[in-house]
Amino acid sequence: MSSPWRATVLTLFPEMFPGPLGVSLAGKALATDVWSLEARDIRASATDRHRSVDDTPAGGGPGMVLRADILAAAIDAADASAAGPESRPRLLMSPRGRPLTQSFVRELAAGPGALIVCGRFEGVDQRVIEARQLEEVSIGDYVLSGGEIAAMALIDACVRLLPGVMGKAESASEESFSDSLLEYPQYTRPQAFEGRQIPEILSSGDHAKVASWRRAEAEALTRARRPDLWASHEKAPKSTTKE
Ligand code: SAM
Repeated sequence: MSSPWRATVLTLFPEMFPGPLGVSLAGKALATDVWSLEARDIRASATDRHRSVDDTPAGGGPGMVLRADILAAAIDAADASAAGPESRPRLLMSPRGRPLTQSFVRELAAGPGALIVCGRFEGVDQRVIEARQLEEVSIGDYVLSGGEIAAMALIDACVRLLPGVMGKAESASEESFSDSLLEYPQYTRPQAFEGRQIPEILSSGDHAKVASWRRAEAEALTRARRPDLWASHEKAPKSTTKE
């Protein structure tokens, strides 16, 4: 068996993990060693009696900032505990980071895993971001109270793409963002629900017609809801069916 995709999470709240990653697809894959998870307590690298990890912002202002020396020591300790040389990307969850898109997720899932730092307070001292070459990653244009939920979102999105995690039934090839399109509408039994019918074409048994109906629906939805995605779809080389 190939070595598992490895996630190491540096957090002030290791007890939050695996949390939702311990159930369903991700949980089963964790239990069968398709991927591994280590949640490490940043506070274990604190050096003073009070085990403090933060301090007031230089220049003033509200809140506290995660100290560079403490976080660097936590990252170094994680590196030192690795079995071999570290080739995994080092990510810092951060609202000002690179947006986490499906293509970025595919890139990460294809690699050996990731070391993921979860910020808290007002964020992290800039110097440790530079000194330990952390790549900042954002899960959206809103502010969470900490990086843990963002890290879970990133890990979940990667893990479901690992070989063997999704069955054929949950195939990634036709879902939202493949080919820069949102997914077409889905239906299942009953045939009639509160007076609404399943579109007739889906019961026609004509696979080509179903595929082209789905394609047209996906395109219409994307054009209406996500002009940004539609623009990249239009720019991409044309294919006749979704990826
Ligand atoms: N003061 C920071 C700012 O304005 O950019 C926000 C800090 S936030 C309260 C605390 C931590 O939550 C961040 O350091 C980051 O790790 C995490 N976080 C918050 N929003 C996030 C997002 N949209 N994506 C990824 N991480 C996020």
